[in-house]
Amino acid sequence: MLIGAHVSAAGGVEKAVGRAVDIGAECMQIFASSPRTWRFRPIPESNSDKFRAAAEEASMGPTVLHASYLVAIGSPDPSLAEKSVQSLSDHLQAAEQLGALGLIFHPASHRGKGFDAVFDQFVSNVQKALDASPGDALLMLETSAGSGDHIGSKFEELGRLIKAIDSPRAAVCFDTQHVWAAGYNIADRDGLEATLEEFDREIGLDLLRSVHANDSMRELGSSVDRHDNIGDGLIGEAGFHTIMSHPAFQEVPFYLEVPGAGKSGPDRPNVEALKRIRAATGG
Ligand SMILES: [Zn+2]
Ligand SMILES: [Zn+2]
Repeated sequence: MLIGAHVSAAGGVEKAVGRAVDIGAECMQIFASSPRTWRFRPIPESNSDKFRAAAEEASMGPTVLHASYLVAIGSPDPSLAEKSVQSLSDHLQAAEQLGALGLIFHPASHRGKGFDAVFDQFVSNVQKALDASPGDALLMLETSAGSGDHIGSKFEELGRLIKAIDSPRAAVCFDTQHVWAAGYNIADRDGLEATLEEFDREIGLDLLRSVHANDSMRELGSSVDRHDNIGDGLIGEAGFHTIMSHPAFQEVPFYLEVPGAGKSGPDRPNVEALKRIRAATGG
């Protein structure tokens, strides 16, 4: 398992590589464009070429992109759904251009309509985004913490969506904090076993393609999305030891999305904490 982190791509995607190297990351997650706007700025060819060269030079593991936070692919509002399709397809194309493993997005909210009511639209919108951006880049649905009307805090929902999307490019990003907040006790050996059995039954462990490695500020089942630094939260170092010991995660890249000591995002102490735990598991 490789240990990486979300890093800034400010000033050009190629700059992200040096930032990842600086904190000891073995793989990285970046935003291809600002996550808080709809506007997508295409990446100039010269920047993506530099990115690929720098990543190769640094022997970086798989890069993943994170989609815009505005994406709401199951939204009952047609203009919002349409913008979401366009945004996912733009970012998927960027993933392809950068040679990234894929794009991670939040299934977001059904806005009070209920999961079943937005199901068909969700599926067809994801299919539209995939059709508009041919290639190999995966589109990974992220597990959600389950606050409000958010889709994807139950593996059953993600499994049903992925089966209906019916594409070899559809996969899942497992966020440890979100899964914990959704009520899956992954810090406990038996709880983790039961969680992964359910994941396998509802989705399939072969579709577990990335992990967001975050400790949790909030208690098990809180439904609250609050990431903590590794070892400072309620999953804790022992919990991460349990997670990282499990065979299901051995080939899956881990990406930190933690606040960091200085609140400026994932930093070297967090990367080193995960590396220490990995070493202790014998991995
Ligand atoms: Zn996440
Ligand atoms: Zn989160």
